[in-house]
Amino acid sequence: MTEKKFQGTNINNVKLHNQQVVLLSLLYEGSLSRVQLAKKADLSNTTITNLVGELIQEGILSEDAEIELEPKSLRPVGRPRTGVHLVPDSRYAVGVHIGVGLFRVALTNLYDEIITNQIHEFDINEPAEKVLAQIVESIEVIISESGVGRDKILGVGVGASGLVDARSKINILAPNLNWHNVPLQESIQNAVNLPVVVDNNVHAMAIGETYFGAARGVDSMAFVYGRTGVGAGLIFRGQVFRGSTTGAGEIGHMILLMRGGEPCRCGNSGCLETLVSEPIILRQAENIARRNPKGLLAKTINERQDLTLLDRIFTAARNGDKEAHQMIDERAYYLGLALSNLVNLFNPELILLGGIFAQGKDLFLEPVIRTVRETAFGGLGEKVRVEPTSFGWRAGVLGAAALALVYFFYQQE
Ligand SMILES: [Zn+2]
Repeated sequence: MTEKKFQGTNINNVKLHNQQVVLLSLLYEGSLSRVQLAKKADLSNTTITNLVGELIQEGILSEDAEIELEPKSLRPVGRPRTGVHLVPDSRYAVGVHIGVGLFRVALTNLYDEIITNQIHEFDINEPAEKVLAQIVESIEVIISESGVGRDKILGVGVGASGLVDARSKINILAPNLNWHNVPLQESIQNAVNLPVVVDNNVHAMAIGETYFGAARGVDSMAFVYGRTGVGAGLIFRGQVFRGSTTGAGEIGHMILLMRGGEPCRCGNSGCLETLVSEPIILRQAENIARRNPKGLLAKTINERQDLTLLDRIFTAARNGDKEAHQMIDERAYYLGLALSNLVNLFNPELILLGGIFAQGKDLFLEPVIRTVRETAFGGLGEKVRVEPTSFGWRAGVLGAAALALVYFFYQQE
C-alpha cells in the first residue's frame, strides 16, 4: 500500500492540479479556446480564464493569432474567441540517457524537441563517480552553449541503466556497468543545482512515448528496448507500472531455455538477453563470417568500415546474405516468444520496440509479429500492435528529458 493513498490535498494543490489539466490538454490538442478548456477540465469559465491569464503572464501560453479576418459585423462582442497554445520554447528540460559505454545529454523544449545534444563514450570499467563527473560537465556545456537562461530550465531527467529505486532515486544495480547503489539524483543535483529526477532508462522511454510520441492516449503499453541487455517499460492506465519493488519489466531475464541455455550476467542461464541482444548478434555473425570468409557477410564486415559492426551485419542480411538473415530471424523468433509471454501476462494495446530492434526494424518486425500472432494465447497476439519507437535512436535521451518535463511541469503531483 502506498502512503499517497491517505494524503489529503490543500487549495494550492487543487490549483496546481487544474493548471496541469490545462497544460496537458494543450500539449495533446495543440490549441484550445478558453471555453473548450473549461469544458474539458469541467471547470468554470472564470477559473480557466484566471489560470490561462497567469500562464500567459509567465510566458508559458500565448494567444493564437487570428488566421482569418472575419467581417467586422460578424465578430463576437467582448472577449476574443481565439484559442491559446503552449509556447514550446518558454521552458526547457535536460535529458541524460546512461547506456552501456555511452551517455547522451540533450536540451529539449516543452514539446520534448531537441534543441542541442551531445554523445560521449565512457569506459565501462571506470568508477561511477568519474562517469558522473563527465555527465555533469556535459550538462554544464550544453546549457551554456545553448544560451538558455538557467531560470528557464525546469530540471534534469536521468534515464539510468538497471534498477532504480523509485523513492530514493538510487541506481541500485546496473550489472552491465557493474554499478551498485550509485546516488545519481543526489550527486547530479548537488553539482548542477537544478532539480533532478531519475528512473530506469527504459521506463523513461515508455514515459516519453506516452506523453510525446506514439503511445499518446494508449492505456496499456510496453516499450521493449534491446542493446547490450533487454528491458521493458510497462505503462498501465497512462502511468509507469513498477511493481512492488520497481523491478517490473525485466523482460531480458525471462528464461526461455530451461536447459542448455548460455549463462547470463544475472546468474541464471537461457535468459532472453542471452538469445537476442547486440553482443549475441555480433558473436554469431563473427562465427558465420569465420566459417564463410568469402561470403557477403564477411565481405561487408571487412569493407564497410564506415558503419558500426551491427549495421554491417544488418546491411549484409538486407542485401541477401542468407545465413545472416536466418540468424537474425532466429533471434527475432526468441524476442517474439518473450513478447508473446508478455502479451499473455499483460495484454497491452501497443508494444513499441527500441534500440537494436528499431535499428533493424525491417529485419525484426515481421518475424516478431508473426511469432506473437502464432504463439500468444487465444488470439491475443492478433490484437496487439507491435511497432518501432517513434523516437528512433533518440528514444533514450528524449525519454530522459520527458521525465523532467513530466515531473517538473506537466504532472507535478
Ligand atoms: Zn538473466
